[in-house]
Amino acid sequence: MKHIAMISVHGDPSADIGTEGAGGQNVYVREVARSLVNRGLTVDVFTRSLKTEQVRSNALAPGARVIQVPCGPSGYIPRDGLFTLLPGFVRRVIDWARQNGVRYEVVHSNYWISGWAGMRLAAAWRTPQTHTFHSLGKVKYQALESCLTDAGKVRLGVEEAITASVTALIATSDYEAQKLRCLYQAPSHIAVIPCGYDHELFRPLDRAKCRNDLNLPHDMPILLYVGRFVHEKGLETLIRTVSVLRLDRPVYLLLVGGYQEGGADEDEFKRIRSLVNDRGLAPVTRFAGAVRHDDLAAYYSAADVTVIPSHYETFGMVAIEAMASGCPVVASATGGLASNVIHGETGLLATPGSVPEFTQCISVLLSDRYLARKLAILARRHACGAFRWSRIAESLERHYGSLSSVGAI
Ligand code: UDP
Repeated sequence: MKHIAMISVHGDPSADIGTEGAGGQNVYVREVARSLVNRGLTVDVFTRSLKTEQVRSNALAPGARVIQVPCGPSGYIPRDGLFTLLPGFVRRVIDWARQNGVRYEVVHSNYWISGWAGMRLAAAWRTPQTHTFHSLGKVKYQALESCLTDAGKVRLGVEEAITASVTALIATSDYEAQKLRCLYQAPSHIAVIPCGYDHELFRPLDRAKCRNDLNLPHDMPILLYVGRFVHEKGLETLIRTVSVLRLDRPVYLLLVGGYQEGGADEDEFKRIRSLVNDRGLAPVTRFAGAVRHDDLAAYYSAADVTVIPSHYETFGMVAIEAMASGCPVVASATGGLASNVIHGETGLLATPGSVPEFTQCISVLLSDRYLARKLAILARRHACGAFRWSRIAESLERHYGSLSSVGAI
């Protein structure tokens, strides 16, 4: 039976999702761990503890544990501030594994910070390491046209070191695999294994009942956003789009996602709320805050369109969840979104940041019911076919099994 050490320093799978500190990676690690144990593997997820002084182990599912490892001062620290604390994290993980007599056969690290820790752990344990980036610094900084800070330079250096030293990489889309090949000195072994969605949770539900339950208007089209409040998610594009939409009736804007007090996402949340106020949209906008993942299905089913206006997105799990729920998607033509949302077939795509294009796509979907219905049906078929977590776990198990024959690169 394979024993996997999953490293997710900033992404605790047991955390509440929907803030800067907890997003898609947390969901990914949690669902992958649960699905792998269903296939007979055992999984320990190592993550940073926010509170305790002691290393604590909690069951995530039978056969899967979350090991919360104190590292640096207690409390929330933004992910990019964790790098200097990693040597202490690695030391405590090694001590804990020795004291508990645990041996791992594979290290699977997630995001660049955990990739660094994973390199040290794989070397100490003499195990193969596979790595999922979830976000590529080089692509993200290019997409955001941001100046490279010192922290950004460190990140890029670590990303290069990871691609040069790990046994294999897992890209979550063909787009990411292609970026890894052309922008990094990537190893030849890149497996493309997407992220998934919970097929029992995300399915079409009765719209009127969902609107009732959530106390949403019945007589207005609803546009839904689900995600963290960070600049790269492009929320400003959505607000500006809604303020210029000219339809026969006003639309309602439902924004799901919270923020960490004192975090950078609090600033972005406030900036977006000011924009909503300035554009006179406050009466038709609801900031729903972070919503428990298990409660999200009703939001997708209540909405007419889910809008994903990201400037940069490696995969975009929200798109798959909306599609599986039968909610038509309008997304930015970028990254993994452009692979999963096929324009005119499983949703509509717009150029990131383009208010005229988002306006056009949303107007078409809200006025052409036949098209909206057709896209919703095809999108659900697409999502259900390839993205169940059980399928992702099957691919991951095969990938883990192949690592010993790939050898160190
Ligand atoms: N999410 C959630 N509650 C919220 C906001 C988001 O459960 O209030 C989940 C959402 O359902 C999705 C994940 O967070 O599973 C976001 O993943 P995505 O890949 O779209 O974005 P990321 O956070 O990785 O940038």
